[in-house]
Amino acid sequence: MTKTAIVTGGSRGIGRAAAIELSKMGMNVAIIYHGNQAKAEETVAACKENGVDAIAIQCDVKLKDDVEVAIENIHETFGTVDVLVNNAGITKDGLLLRMSEEDFDAVLDTNLKGCFLFSKACAAIMMKQRSGKIINIASIVGIQGNAGQANYAASKAGIIGFTKSLAKELGSRGINVNAVAPGFVETDMTDVLSDKVKESLMNLIPLKRTAKPEDIANAIAFLASEKADYITGQVLTVDGGMCM
Ligand code: NAP
Repeated sequence: MTKTAIVTGGSRGIGRAAAIELSKMGMNVAIIYHGNQAKAEETVAACKENGVDAIAIQCDVKLKDDVEVAIENIHETFGTVDVLVNNAGITKDGLLLRMSEEDFDAVLDTNLKGCFLFSKACAAIMMKQRSGKIINIASIVGIQGNAGQANYAASKAGIIGFTKSLAKELGSRGINVNAVAPGFVETDMTDVLSDKVKESLMNLIPLKRTAKPEDIANAIAFLASEKADYITGQVLTVDGGMCM
C-alpha cells in the first residue's frame, strides 16, 4: 500500500520542500496550511508531478476540532497515516518585558500545542498500524536559547522534550519519533530579519552559508525512511555547524 505523509505548514518554506521530497519517495502527501491556499495548491501540484496523490487541507494546527477533522479526512482519503511532519510554526519576537501574553500564547499554541494535537490524532492510527514515523521540527534556538525569542525558544525546547517522551512511549508500537533542529534557513520566516542580523548570524556558521529549505527536507526524508528505522528520540541539528 502506498504510504501517506502529512506535512503541517506544507504550503511554504521547509514544509513545502519536505512535502516534495516525501513525494519523491513515492508517498501520497497531505499538506496542511493555515491561510495560504494558493501556495498550498502549488505544493500539491509539485508533489503530483512525482506521480503520487496529494491534497491540501486548511486547518489551524492549534484548534483540536480542525485537527481531528483534518486527520479523519486524510485517513478516509488515503487509508493510512505513515509519516507526520510537525512543521507549522510562527515567530512573534520581542524582549521579555515587551512581550505580550498574546504573543507568548500564540507561539506556544501554534508551535507546541499544534505538534501535540497532530501527534495525538496520528498516533492513534499509527498505534493500530504498529508503525509510523513522527518528525517534529524544532530549532537550534530551542537548544541554545536566543535573546528576543523567549516564547519561540520555549516552544522549540518543549518540542524536544515532547519528542523524547513520545519516543519512549510509542517505541514499543513500532513508531519512531525524532526532531530536526534547523539553524538559519532561507524562508519567509527569516526574510524579515535585517541585513545586519543576517550578517551576524552568517558569521556563526562554520559552513559559511545559510540553509535552503531542501537542506532540511533531506534530513526529514532520511528520518521518514526505512534507513532511520533504528533511530528514535533524537534531535538532528541541520545548521551548517552553528550549534555544537
Ligand atoms: P514559513 O516559511 O514562515 O512557513 C510557515 C508555515 O506554517 C506555512 O506553511 C504556514 O501556513 C504554516 N502555519 C503557520 N501557522 C499555522 C497554523 N496556525 N496552522 C496551520 N499552519 C500554520 O516557515 P519556515 O521557515 O518554513 O519554518 C517551518 C518550521 O521550521 C517552523 O516550525 C519553524 O519554527 C522551523 N524553523 C525555521 C527556521 C528558519 O530559519 N526558517 C529555523 C529553525 C526552525 P500558511 O502558508 O497557510 O500561512
